[in-house]
Amino acid sequence: MGYEYVFIALMFGLATGIIGRAKGGSFFIWLLVGMVLLLFGLIAVILYRNEVTEPERRCPTCGKILKLYVQVCPRCGTDLYLPDPEETRMPPR
Ligand SMILES: [Zn+2]
Repeated sequence: MGYEYVFIALMFGLATGIIGRAKGGSFFIWLLVGMVLLLFGLIAVILYRNEVTEPERRCPTCGKILKLYVQVCPRCGTDLYLPDPEETRMPPR
């Protein structure tokens, strides 16, 4: 244990940081994760879901930015429905 450990930690840290940054995260946060968790950090960043590519919309009531899959606004409790073109063409009952 010594320089070898530091070298391995740095390699995992750099690899994790580069992948994390490519996925829209912070390079330095993932660098630290990789250096502390080593292989587990690298697995974590590979499994890490890139939230940046998720579609977003704005809550009509409070204006909070939410992911499209969010059905109830966590801030104001407004029910949010997915925009469905099939429903808008339905004749009124
Ligand atoms: Zn809201």
